[in-house]
Amino acid sequence: MELEVYRCKECRHVLFTEKHIEDHIKATHSFKGEEKGKSIQCNSHFLSTEVPWLDSYKITTSAEKGKIYCPFCKCKIGNFCWHGSRCSCGSYVAPAFQIQKSKVDSQIVIVTPKE
Ligand SMILES: [Zn+2]
Ligand SMILES: [Zn+2]
Repeated sequence: MELEVYRCKECRHVLFTEKHIEDHIKATHSFKGEEKGKSIQCNSHFLSTEVPWLDSYKITTSAEKGKIYCPFCKCKIGNFCWHGSRCSCGSYVAPAFQIQKSKVDSQIVIVTPKE
C-alpha cells in the first residue's frame, strides 16, 4: 500500500500523511474582482484536527488564530484559524489548519498493512 507522507523541509521529520489532509472543493467561493472558474492551484494543505501534534493548538482555546510551527524544529510552517481561512484556490475552509506547501516535501512510502 502506498502512502504519501509530508516532511518538514528544515528538519525532515514526517509531520503528517495524506490521511490527515482535509480535502476541499476548489474554488467554491467567488471573490470580488476575480475571474471565476479558472484553474487555480492550492498553495496550502489543510489538516484534519486528528494530527496528534496539533493538540497543543486545540487546547489553547484562547487563541483563535495564530502560527503553526514544526513540532520538531520550531520553524514556521503555516497558520491556523478556528473561524476558517481562505485557500489560494478561492475556497473557504473552516476550521483551518493551513500548512504552506512550500514548507513541506511530499514523499511516497510503501506501508505494509497490519494483519
Ligand atoms: Zn484550495
Ligand atoms: Zn521541522
